[in-house]
Amino acid sequence: MKIGLIDVDNDGKTGKRFPNLALMKLSAWHKQQGDTVEWYQPMFSGHMDRVYMSKVFSWTKDYEYYIDADEVIKGGSGYCISLQNGREVYNKEADKPLPFEIEHIMPDYSLYGITDTAYGFMSRGCPRGCGFCHVAAKEGKKSYKVADLKEFWSGQKYIELLDPNTLACEDWKDILWQLANSGAYVDFNQGVDIRLMTEKKAEIIQKMRTKHIHFAWDSYKDKNIIVPKLKMFKDITNWERSKVTVYVLCGFDTTMEENLERIQIIRDLNFNPYVTLYDSQHIERGSELKRLQRWVNNKWVFWKCGSFDEYMKM
Ligand code: SF4
Repeated sequence: MKIGLIDVDNDGKTGKRFPNLALMKLSAWHKQQGDTVEWYQPMFSGHMDRVYMSKVFSWTKDYEYYIDADEVIKGGSGYCISLQNGREVYNKEADKPLPFEIEHIMPDYSLYGITDTAYGFMSRGCPRGCGFCHVAAKEGKKSYKVADLKEFWSGQKYIELLDPNTLACEDWKDILWQLANSGAYVDFNQGVDIRLMTEKKAEIIQKMRTKHIHFAWDSYKDKNIIVPKLKMFKDITNWERSKVTVYVLCGFDTTMEENLERIQIIRDLNFNPYVTLYDSQHIERGSELKRLQRWVNNKWVFWKCGSFDEYMKM
């Protein structure tokens, strides 16, 4: 068969390409069947037996050109998750999970010319069900192990772990040790749920090669859980702001005072705060929230300028 692939999020105009994992798995599986696989290019590809279109982000514009193929299959979160009234809504009908044998195949990294990084999930699902996130609805309100590391890693220098919430998985110890024992640099792409940190987990993470770790402090009401956990993590690992960033979600359910307090606590711990704005596209440029984001996320300015008031006077 002649197979075409379209990475809808990467139209070639954007700079850095984050590879589409589903397409890399589809490519690997079809090549295993003896099919020819190529990026679909309307001007040059000619007629295809099948074209897969994959879209990860709901806000990416859909592919709008004619596709010359017997069959076109669309899939990915970008097609089954939509933003409605600022919330992510999951449409089960539009979800097309990959068949088991494709989901669990070693991805074809050559599709993106990647040689030094492995991408994949060792667990799926999340028990949290945060109001702004689709993971619980799409993957289940429980974290469960789905793969061993060797399923998508074969000695690459870097590992991008895409798990939504590894620490919530009952197999966390197995997963963390596999990552630590790999000797590769591990990046928890989706961040780590600091509320579920324990001394044992922190000790294993400290043994991992990781350039940087991200936590999230989304809701102010978690202060009494998060602050002691951040302190415990710091005491065990001795990691500071060069290695630890804490995402601070603003504009969802917190006041400006609560935003500033979280940022100050993170600063006092010598970790890097990083402001993420909920429904950012609908927040006016020049608004207080956008200026807060500019102050905090520009590290040079943030560590030079001690308070938001001071920054606002600049
Ligand atoms: S903890 Fe993270 S993955 Fe889980 S529901 Fe909340 S935002 Fe989503």
